[in-house]
Amino acid sequence: MLVRNATLADGRRRDVQVRGERIDAVGRRLSAEGGTENGRDDDEAEAERVIDATGKLLLPGAIDVHVHAREPGFPYKETWETLSASAAAGGVTTVVDQPNTDPPTIDGERFDAKAELATRSLVDYGINGGVTPEWEPGELLERPLFALGEIFLADSTGEMGIDADLFEAAVREATERGVATTVHAEDAALFSETARERDGDDVDGWSAFRTIEAEVEAIAQACTVGAELGAQLHIAHASTPEGIDRAKDAGMTCEVTPHHLFLSRADLDELGTCGRMNPPLRSEDCRKAVYERVADGTVDVIATDHAPHTRTEKDTDVWNAPSGVPGVETLLPLLLAEAREGKLSYERVRDLTAANPAAIFDLPRKGRVEAGKDADLALFDPETAREIRGEERHSKAGWTPFEGSEGVFPEWTMVRGQVIYERTDDESWDVDGSSDGGSGDGDGGDSDERFGEAIGENVRSSSRTMANDD
Ligand SMILES: [Zn+2]
Repeated sequence: MLVRNATLADGRRRDVQVRGERIDAVGRRLSAEGGTENGRDDDEAEAERVIDATGKLLLPGAIDVHVHAREPGFPYKETWETLSASAAAGGVTTVVDQPNTDPPTIDGERFDAKAELATRSLVDYGINGGVTPEWEPGELLERPLFALGEIFLADSTGEMGIDADLFEAAVREATERGVATTVHAEDAALFSETARERDGDDVDGWSAFRTIEAEVEAIAQACTVGAELGAQLHIAHASTPEGIDRAKDAGMTCEVTPHHLFLSRADLDELGTCGRMNPPLRSEDCRKAVYERVADGTVDVIATDHAPHTRTEKDTDVWNAPSGVPGVETLLPLLLAEAREGKLSYERVRDLTAANPAAIFDLPRKGRVEAGKDADLALFDPETAREIRGEERHSKAGWTPFEGSEGVFPEWTMVRGQVIYERTDDESWDVDGSSDGGSGDGDGGDSDERFGEAIGENVRSSSRTMANDD
């Protein structure tokens, strides 16, 4: 496929030739025959397809390093099919699953069982390994793990909270084997017991309960251990400027979620328990300070902590509702709507969602629109924003905390050269026969969407690693 005259994140207008699974060439005026140094070859027909992308934005597919696919254990919340359809429809081409499934991903056998389920993914994926007192580091760490984590440092509400000694042992073990560690940093000892007495209808009680101090101290504690061990720690979903600064001062990397970037305690009246997540929403001032650090490049990554629950589960008081919100499908659309208004640059969006996660987690094939990289691409019309509606999204959750916000959604999404999502309601789409429907048909909403086959691969699998040598 030849994508003609696309605008890249840095503003350059280029033709992009895709051949097989890769970007073959990026240039000013490439020939439609794919006549680069490789000449014509067996996928000639594929190479000859041409898309006019004039006025369109071509980005590397996003790498969401923090999603909860919910399988095994909670297929009524989400499955690998629905998670990856949601990712594809949002321009996300790689997702990284977290280990707090049922059973949790804490040993070799459970890793293998999850890896089998993940083969149903439309997009590429990584699988993280978890740490509990029962974990089996020997066999777990010899599997093709994406990273260790998110390790819940002293989180009393989850079943995967661990103490400081086990945390240190786990980070040491991972570091010795060259595996990155991601940390959910909230110190439960610093939660507010006074706030815990608030009425269950007072949704703000959750934000008052899980204090800023609890996050900042846990990040500081984790960074101290990490620095002593020479570890690469990645702080998951930092929600406070103080926490971000601590992590960066210690030389660690961090991520921020879209909900901490765009929502605050001021939205809780409207959100109800759909605004309960960990860490919780913060004050509007805090949100603005986090946004500044995202816009100026202090924050490395935006990852969604996509954590779907059903509406029924959320329909209870704040002390009993489950924590978490869906988000993988609205990650790029929300950021691109900001970029469209000049609040973030397109380059920053590319770095936060693709280039930086690829660099931090060692995915040399991904994260940029350059010759030789995987053809993981998403095409957007930056002039067309639409209202975000939960019922139109593809997560099983069927709701979104960003209801009514503006989003710039992709026209199509490609994983390693194959179109796995396309929206045909746009007249500019004139590629023929790129998808035969396949799995994961969208329920309700836009009937002009099509999904491709489940072609996702583990980005750490040995075949990928060997293929990366050439
Ligand atoms: Zn977490």
